[in-house]
Amino acid sequence: MFDLTGKMALVTGSSRGIGRAIAEGLAEAGATVVLHGRQAERVEAAAAEFRARFGAGRVHTSAFDITDPEQVSAGIAAIMAAAGVPDVLVNNAGLQHRVPLLELEFADWERVLKTDLSSLFLIGKALAAPMIDRGSGKIINIGSVQSELARPTIAAYTAAKGGVRNLTRAMAAEWAKHGLQINSLAPGYIHTEMTQSLVDDAAFNSWVLGRTPAARWGTVQDLVGPAVWLASDASDFVNGQTIFIDGGMTAVV
Ligand code: NDP
Repeated sequence: MFDLTGKMALVTGSSRGIGRAIAEGLAEAGATVVLHGRQAERVEAAAAEFRARFGAGRVHTSAFDITDPEQVSAGIAAIMAAAGVPDVLVNNAGLQHRVPLLELEFADWERVLKTDLSSLFLIGKALAAPMIDRGSGKIINIGSVQSELARPTIAAYTAAKGGVRNLTRAMAAEWAKHGLQINSLAPGYIHTEMTQSLVDDAAFNSWVLGRTPAARWGTVQDLVGPAVWLASDASDFVNGQTIFIDGGMTAVV
């Protein structure tokens, strides 16, 4: 039920962090993967390790900026020409920008919204059309605990991730009847490059440990099982849902 042999998965932002761990988990479950990021060198460095482990035939690469509609169209067309229509799309690439709301510049607001929300629309739309023609496809949008809850200094991110939750519902509303399953995984605080400065901040670190019932930071590995489930036949009647992988953070006040 969880076997992904013969499936092809594109994971955006898989040159490092959560995306890389998810790509690795999908490959371990049998999938061929397309590794992606903005910086080609980082993608190639990850790909070299994946090829050594899973074989060259099961690893493709792609580098484009997900905020640029023309790069998205060209990038997706190149992936489909090289590897076919993906069975699984994980919309993972994202960024954070921390500043009090009154000091948030419009350019930064737009950059975060374009990266963390609009890109999911662009890439999701580009791949949903051929998935619908085929009659099957899995789309996993990466949200956050900020899909549900706010916190000071990350207003643009909170708005974008709240949008991810409802975009996931909107995609399911229109595409589920064509055989697609679209769901969101919403991680809690996970130790990656994006959050290294928070792990290093004693006050923030102790807030995370106290606020999370599991009393620890998540690891990238914590996302892998849920991602394999949502990518596999085991989740064929799950649609439009946001599943929090947060050690219980959003379950308690
Ligand atoms: P990282 O910063 O470790 O990695 C981000 C990845 O996204 C990199 O591969 C990066 O590529 C790529 N990327 C960023 N911007 C773009 C862009 N414009 N075009 C193409 N690729 C881009 O992030 P995380 O692994 O920490 O986070 C991954 C996802 O998980 C994000 O959506 C994030 O919001 C979410 N998340 C993370 C949490 C955490 O605690 N870490 C908690 C909740 C959600 P490159 O290096 O080439 O720029």
